[in-house]
Amino acid sequence: MKTFNLEEYIRDVKDFPKEGVLFKDITPLLNHPQASEQCLQELLDLIGDLKIDKVVGIESRGFFYGTLLAKELNAGFVPVRKPGKLPYNTNSETYDLEYGTDTLEIHKDAIKKGDKVLLHDDVLATGGTAKAVVNLIESLGGEIVQCNFLMIIGFLKGSEKLKDYNVASVLSY
Ligand code: AMP
Repeated sequence: MKTFNLEEYIRDVKDFPKEGVLFKDITPLLNHPQASEQCLQELLDLIGDLKIDKVVGIESRGFFYGTLLAKELNAGFVPVRKPGKLPYNTNSETYDLEYGTDTLEIHKDAIKKGDKVLLHDDVLATGGTAKAVVNLIESLGGEIVQCNFLMIIGFLKGSEKLKDYNVASVLSY
């Protein structure tokens, strides 16, 4: 049952972290146990009965619900992190930003060939981040069964970068 309007628990912060960005802050949602539980349930509803071996969460806001989803799905949790944070052998992927580039890393042994993988993050914006993580997962032989988000910011057209994948979100703007 949808008791809460989850949009009320997402705070819009103007010009963060830089001018022109409307930041979607999920901390009010995390701070409200019942609304947060409903959000988790809605994320699980998106997954339905898909079989998942690993949930990949993207640093850092993809870790919150990513670990909860992994527990509920009886799947392993795999963190994707910024460079130099993961201690063991990694694969890395560099992708373009508006100005410059960014890099993400995954442990080489975190996913086995043929693993069914759920990618999870809080926000899909331009899709550059999620596409880089898709590449990391596939570099290890993982099979992506869903790219799962709390919200999609539609006008930034991130879904186009993921057009070959099953993309799902609880909220869209
Ligand atoms: P993008 O690569 O443009 O799809 O950006 C996605 C990543 O940046 C995600 O990890 C989000 O957490 C973060 N992000 C991008 N835009 C926003 C936004 N407006 N509010 C909150 N987080 C954002």
